[in-house]
Amino acid sequence: MNLFHKFPGGVHPKEGSGGKAVTAGLPIVEPHQPTRVVIPLHQNIGTPSECLVQKGDTVRVGQRIGEAVGLMGAAVHASVSGTVAACEPCIVADGTQQFCVIIDNDFQDTWVDLTPVAYPESLTAKELADIARNAGIVGMGGATFPYGMKLTMPPNVKIDTLILNGAECEPYLSADHRLMLEESEGIVKGARLIQKALEIQRVIIAIEDNKPDAIDVMAKACEGDPTFQVSSLPVRYPQGGEKQLVYALTKRVVKMGSLPLNVGVLVSNVASCLALCQAVHEGRPVIDRVVTVGGTVKEPANFRVRIGTMVEALLDNAQGLLPQTRLLILGGPMMGMSISRRDIPITKGCSGLLGLEIGVALEEEQPCIRCARCVDACPVKLAPALIDRYTRNDTLTEAEELYAMNCMECGICSWSCPSRRHLTQSIKMCKKLIRQKYDQAAQQKGAK
Ligand code: SF4
Ligand code: SF4
Repeated sequence: MNLFHKFPGGVHPKEGSGGKAVTAGLPIVEPHQPTRVVIPLHQNIGTPSECLVQKGDTVRVGQRIGEAVGLMGAAVHASVSGTVAACEPCIVADGTQQFCVIIDNDFQDTWVDLTPVAYPESLTAKELADIARNAGIVGMGGATFPYGMKLTMPPNVKIDTLILNGAECEPYLSADHRLMLEESEGIVKGARLIQKALEIQRVIIAIEDNKPDAIDVMAKACEGDPTFQVSSLPVRYPQGGEKQLVYALTKRVVKMGSLPLNVGVLVSNVASCLALCQAVHEGRPVIDRVVTVGGTVKEPANFRVRIGTMVEALLDNAQGLLPQTRLLILGGPMMGMSISRRDIPITKGCSGLLGLEIGVALEEEQPCIRCARCVDACPVKLAPALIDRYTRNDTLTEAEELYAMNCMECGICSWSCPSRRHLTQSIKMCKKLIRQKYDQAAQQKGAK
């Protein structure tokens, strides 16, 4: 059955040296453990976790150090054993300060006692959601949506399709690719837990066709189960976007402001699905994740990185940067964040650390020539040039009326603009200012 439908917009970005072709063939390895980890208590969309430890406490690997707060919460755990050196605000990837637990590693790797679920096959959706929340699972493709919330269905919502997102459409990244090759059974086991608890009829494993080995391995892992199928998708960025994936595989349209569950689909990144399997079958919380360290580094690798490891320490494991490096990116080159310092911790949503020779952010902006390339390429059908203009003119109401808040921050508009305008950056700022406007209005209302 041909399941593929072409979504609007999108591009096929070329990769420079050190791209997927280099790292996809490199097995996941453990880097040297860091001497210190800095673990932010806010690694999920939604409410930050509440700190459970204080300076001087001794902690073990997997110990809960942050309690999930509210429905959109996700717990946080110690990723090394050792002593809490401080609990204080630290700089994170987006340049803001966030409350972090800093742990000095004792290199003993002493774990808490892990308790696997005795009867996984009888878990209800609510129990599964609670396990995910307490194990600190979030959308590990970068969205960091709390997984417990993802598994919590509103009344009257029925999911008939689970899509396992193994598209990994961003250039350079190969963390999910390697996970599919090395942990295929765990990923399928995680999917079966969701399928059973939510009574989902079919599971589609979506993989771009530049990963034929992963397609084979995943097909083998679910062989003989007619409710599973592996779908090979053409390479097209942002194929791994939730709405693009749902359309490509089911032809169902997730409207602006709506979620896949509104059209009967649940989408999960493969890494999050594996984390769910580990939480249930091993009692293991999220204390690490696979990160592709690539581009202009001396020794590219796919590392299984302890959460809270500093960028500097990870670069040391890759033997540092090549001299031509001009840009350091956390995440992929399209959606990732350019960072100017190395004392930034790796968090649950971070799948890549890249050195690059070129990047839109480095190029000087020229005036808009109204070519509409950004409009044609936008997968959400927005008008990036106009939103950018309104943002720069500080006329946010107009930008909001053009659905700026629906921007998925995919980076395509900036990438396709011949005038090298920093459109995505501008629209991100626009969204931030609009959110601030609503927060302030809510605070004023509350104060009355
Ligand atoms: S960053 Fe936003 S506006 Fe630009 S192409 Fe992507 S979705 Fe469209
Ligand atoms: S792609 Fe660039 S130059 Fe063309 S319309 Fe958009 S902002 Fe203007």
